Amino acid sequence: MNMRIAQILKYFSAAVLLLVLYHFLPGLWNYFITYPRLEGEIAALQQKYKQPLQISSLKQYRGLLHTHSYWSHDSRGVLGEIIPAAKKANIDFIFFSDHERAKLDTFPRAYSGFYNGILMVPGTENNDLLVWPLKESVIDWQTPNPQLIKQVIAAGGLVFYPHCEDKRDWHNPDYQAMEIYNIHTDIKDESYADIFFNTIINQGKYRHWVYRELFDEQSTILARWDSLNLKRRIVGFSAVDAHENQNIRARYLADGRVEWLGPNANPIDTTEAGLLEKLLLSEADENGWAFKMYLDTFYNSYYFVNNHVLADSLDQSNIAKHILQGHLFISFASLADAEGFLFYANDKSGRLAAILGDEIAVQNVGNLAAVSPFPGRFRLLRNGKIIDEKIDIYTYNSADVVQSGNYRLEVALRIDAKWVPWIYTNPIYIR
Ligand SMILES: [Zn+2]
Repeated sequence: MNMRIAQILKYFSAAVLLLVLYHFLPGLWNYFITYPRLEGEIAALQQKYKQPLQISSLKQYRGLLHTHSYWSHDSRGVLGEIIPAAKKANIDFIFFSDHERAKLDTFPRAYSGFYNGILMVPGTENNDLLVWPLKESVIDWQTPNPQLIKQVIAAGGLVFYPHCEDKRDWHNPDYQAMEIYNIHTDIKDESYADIFFNTIINQGKYRHWVYRELFDEQSTILARWDSLNLKRRIVGFSAVDAHENQNIRARYLADGRVEWLGPNANPIDTTEAGLLEKLLLSEADENGWAFKMYLDTFYNSYYFVNNHVLADSLDQSNIAKHILQGHLFISFASLADAEGFLFYANDKSGRLAAILGDEIAVQNVGNLAAVSPFPGRFRLLRNGKIIDEKIDIYTYNSADVVQSGNYRLEVALRIDAKWVPWIYTNPIYIR
């Protein structure tokens, strides 16, 4: 009998071991094989950097247009965590989109103004909208969306569509912009178990590659954007939708007890410090956390995808104005720094006539062009259809433009023998 129990135990532990190995094996393979190879690919790409010619007199600012802080019920993010992450990711502006606090919401609130040189603008994600009033105001969330959108925009504010994988009132005539990429949208089809085990192994050195595992080209959303743009101009932008809340954290409270928080910043337990706490908790960091196991971090989200806005200066009204003009392209920053990239139109004598987001008459256009700090695959799309492709170039020049339409550019980088999407521009509208 004992023999039989011993045998069962043996098989059982072998099965457990196999199961653990099965889950950790891909992460270990990534750690020893795939990610070092990808790091090598990025290092080789960095060698190819060439500073692009400055085409426009506008400056480039890099920022986030949909992200959360402690003001949202599902984030605990404070400046002590947000500022270092944003500085490390070279972020110039953050337009927050914290979930609503009450049916009557007042602005400004939470973070508003400059913090360590980073422009922070308060806004809300609610009613399936991203709303930035940009001035002192009260928003009544019980107002039906069509009126609410009209009111905010009439008062000088911004109303954009988030999460464009979901159903939206696409034909509403007033919203100004829509997400063409959102990390949270992209992650919905991934296995959280795979991310979890991969993170356990690779969080120290390679978390940016763990993040890259979730990337899928958002073809459906891009196609919708292209088709909506045939009717009226809608600016495309990217969202990090960062909460830094897919984690387990613990901190000591003033009374010596320990507060445990789980995913979505939900409390797990508040308890006396027992054996588990003695084993797991170390000295609190500057933000008070004595235990942290993160799947998402502000830094890696901010470093994943950025909006590059061409504007005269870094202030709320100027950045907002140029976003609305579509002077914006998105880039996947952890692949390569897109600073200096530009998509523009030349007139018939080769002089700058328009930049991305601008509208221009067809008789005033010579050709379309782009400059990039890295060589890549340039695809020119007209009304959503690829009409030209050139590879391994830094500067792109199209044939002469003879037809009106919405022209946008996609640039991909050659990484690990694949073309990986890197930049999506707003269109130049040729009429
Ligand atoms: Zn959000």
